[in-house]
Amino acid sequence: MFIAFDGIDGAGKSTQITRLVEALQAAGRDVVSVRDPGSTAAGEAIRALVLDSDLEMHRRCEALLYMAARSQLVEERIRPALAAGQIVVSDRYLLANVVYQSAGGGEAAELLWQLGEVAISGVRPDLTVLLDLPADVALSRLDRPADRMEARGVEYLTAVREGFRKQLPRASQRTLIVDAAQSIEAMAEAIRTAVFALAEPTTDQPPQ
Ligand code: ADP
Ligand code: MG
Repeated sequence: MFIAFDGIDGAGKSTQITRLVEALQAAGRDVVSVRDPGSTAAGEAIRALVLDSDLEMHRRCEALLYMAARSQLVEERIRPALAAGQIVVSDRYLLANVVYQSAGGGEAAELLWQLGEVAISGVRPDLTVLLDLPADVALSRLDRPADRMEARGVEYLTAVREGFRKQLPRASQRTLIVDAAQSIEAMAEAIRTAVFALAEPTTDQPPQ
C-alpha cells in the first residue's frame, strides 16, 4: 500500500507522517518512509538543486528536475518496497509538482499531469492525504528561513492551497482532506482511521 501526504509547508506533513509510521509499526506493519524529491542519492542531489540553490532555472526546467527525481524514487525505492509487501509513506508526490508548478500562472496543470505519467510509470498512491491549512497560519508555524517556494509569499501560497484542493481528485482514486488547523492528535486520529481501514480490508473487500 502506498500513501502520499501533501499540503503546503507548515501544514504538518512531517509531524503526521511520523505519527502514522509509529502507529503502523506498533500494529506490526512493515513501513518505508520516503520524501519526494529525495530518498535516493540522485534524488537528494536534485533536491538540493531545485530547493536550495541560487541557480537560474526556467520553470519547465524546475518541473522536469522534480519529475526526474521522482522517477528515481519510484524505481529505486517505491516500486521494490511495494513489491515486497511493505507500506510506503511519502512526504509529497506528483500532486505537489503539478500544483506548485501550475499555481500563479505557471505551466498548465494538464501538461504536468502528463509529464507525471512518464515519471511515475504506473506507480500511483492508493491514498493521498491532503493537509489543508490557510497560507498565513502555515507560514506562522515555520521557524526557519523561507526556501525558494516559500519566498514567493502568502499570495502564491494561497493559490497553491487552492490548487491542492482543485487537483487532489486527480492524484489517486482515494483521497482524504484533513483540516490541519485541528490539534496534532485530532489530525493523527483521522489519518489513522482512514489508513487502517485501507490496511485491514474486511472479507467483503478484495485485498489492496
Ligand atoms: P510540514 O512538514 O507540512 O512542513 P511540520 O510537520 O514540519 O509541517 O509542522 C510545521 C510546524 O508546525 C512544526 O513546528 C510543528 O510542530 C507545528 N505543527 C504541526 N502540526 C500542528 C498542529 N496541528 N497544530 C499546531 N502546530 C502544528
Ligand atoms: Mg515537512
